[in-house]
Amino acid sequence: MNKHPSQAAFGFTLGALLLAGKALSQTPEPEFALTLPSARTELREAPSASELLAPTRVVVLGTGTPIPDAFRAGSSIAVIHKGESYLFDAGAGAVRQATIARYKYDIPSLYPSLICCVFFSHLHSDHTMDFSELAHTMWWRRSAALKAWGPQGIERIASGLLEMNSVDVDLRTGGLQPVQNPDGFRVTAQTIEPGILLEKDDLVIEAFAVDHGDIHPAYGFKVTTADLSLVISGDTAYSETLVEKAQGVDLLFHEVISLQGLLQNSPGFQRYHNSAHTTSEELARLANIARPELLVLYHGLFYGTEEESVLDEIGAIYDGEVILADDLDVFPER
Ligand SMILES: [Zn+2]
Ligand SMILES: [Zn+2]
Repeated sequence: MNKHPSQAAFGFTLGALLLAGKALSQTPEPEFALTLPSARTELREAPSASELLAPTRVVVLGTGTPIPDAFRAGSSIAVIHKGESYLFDAGAGAVRQATIARYKYDIPSLYPSLICCVFFSHLHSDHTMDFSELAHTMWWRRSAALKAWGPQGIERIASGLLEMNSVDVDLRTGGLQPVQNPDGFRVTAQTIEPGILLEKDDLVIEAFAVDHGDIHPAYGFKVTTADLSLVISGDTAYSETLVEKAQGVDLLFHEVISLQGLLQNSPGFQRYHNSAHTTSEELARLANIARPELLVLYHGLFYGTEEESVLDEIGAIYDGEVILADDLDVFPER
């Protein structure tokens, strides 16, 4: 979309430094500025009336891949519905982004220790790195421990996190610190089987198997509410099941590998990526069949090529609306 918020924020910081000493009233309004409070403890008994009435929103917390990226956090998408936030994957940096999004968009349920649930598409580390962060950020203030769903292996990861956090638990519960919820760190982990995972009021969260090459199992998700429908691909090669699930949805969030980018790889990696990911050309074909209202690209593998080239590659075959998401983009767009 527009220039990266972090680039703009960096520019603003430099500008602010240069302007130091001048009257604040002379400081031009930056193109992008956050008014964020410093450390603030937030607790909540239940969602407020305005949260319950708010339309369903989606915030892309992270659009990145395993490759460290100054402008993209690890893969994570948050769906906010009736005062609860449901995360789909939690790549590195996702929790930090949730804290920013909580204030940028005034979404209380994105405060990390209020996030109720996370669904992992598969257990590649670029999708799970912030599981620990999410489960254990201020765990002693959590009114309820985090609930996690993921493919086989999720329980192993959850018990590893428990072990990793046990020293902190001992330190905090064995001294003077008041601990509101001594069980706030005990993540519940459930293994995903294809089908409906969660139903709450008009919200339905469904998992379906996708084809992430030899990484098995891997799931995509369909989320339906009274006012929005969306599909999240997770990591997948071209998937017939996904095409079926994404028919006419409002929003299709799909991973992509650019054709130009693919050519930058060694033959071995080209073979791997072709088996595990969806090229821009394949995604355009998929979108032509599924016809989502809006196709949102995330988890883009570009390998140093111009990121926007992926939009040209798709646009050559698909005439629907397509966006290359940046971190912290919000949908439906306002
Ligand atoms: Zn990935
Ligand atoms: Zn993966």
